[in-house]
Amino acid sequence: MKSFNTKEKLVAYLNSVRGKNLKIGLVPTMGALHEGHLSLIAASKEKCDLTIASIFVNPTQFNKADDLLKYPKPIERDKQLLEKAGCDILFNPEVSEMYHDNERWNYKVGNLNTILEGKFRPGHYEGVTQIVYKLFTLVEPDFAFFGQKDYQQFLVISELTKHFKLPIQLQACPIIREKDGLAMSSRNVRLNQLEHEKSLQLYQSLKFIKANYGKLPKEGLLNQAKGFYNDDLLDLEYLEIADQHTLSPINDQKNAIVLVACSVGSTRLIDNMMLP
Ligand code: AMP
Repeated sequence: MKSFNTKEKLVAYLNSVRGKNLKIGLVPTMGALHEGHLSLIAASKEKCDLTIASIFVNPTQFNKADDLLKYPKPIERDKQLLEKAGCDILFNPEVSEMYHDNERWNYKVGNLNTILEGKFRPGHYEGVTQIVYKLFTLVEPDFAFFGQKDYQQFLVISELTKHFKLPIQLQACPIIREKDGLAMSSRNVRLNQLEHEKSLQLYQSLKFIKANYGKLPKEGLLNQAKGFYNDDLLDLEYLEIADQHTLSPINDQKNAIVLVACSVGSTRLIDNMMLP
């Protein structure tokens, strides 16, 4: 696997191979890789001739300084995992390589910025779109792979891509879970054993909603599911059933998704499930 930490070297390499008519796949990550990330690498390898993973803990998308500070960075382990997964290129820049001082980003995220994740993490999607735009225009991939785990992020990036008319096909890949159902996340390593057990309530509540969707009125169903979070260690931010395309409140039963965000101790987790 080739590894680059400057834009110049990455672009020089990509320019040297671009004429060969290769399909390029990009997998943006913040590292601390797990099977969820590796499933995106596998999806890219299936569709593309050249797979690029980026590892960049993007400061502009963190709305809590402490979360950024505590974000795990096991770069040597990550490199080994990418190598083993057959990734072709790693792009792992420093913050100063991607941002200059007092940089502005004027893209308006729209309605998705004010609901669910957007509401609870002010500024998050501005930061996400800022870095993804930089990566997209740097790499100019044919395909980019994202996880359904960050479903709202996928919709935001879809809008970004349309807005700038970027010729990149986006692909959402299924959520990879631990054996016990917990959606894999780089933040899971912060959970102690008790917190890990409690965090299973997210998956349990989503399964409960999926099993009963359409059988009970929406509000009653959500109220019952919120009962899963009656625990001192759990701090539920939202549990909502929404339209899959807009994430607005849903009126009919088709094309729905249930999404949840909950802190378990000091670790914030998200998950979702398509309905019915
Ligand atoms: P992150 O490193 O958390 O920014 O995630 C990088 C990419 O991996 C994003 O597209 C995530 O949606 C995706 N991802 C994270 N966790 C999972 C998972 N459990 N299953 C599938 N994809 C995931």
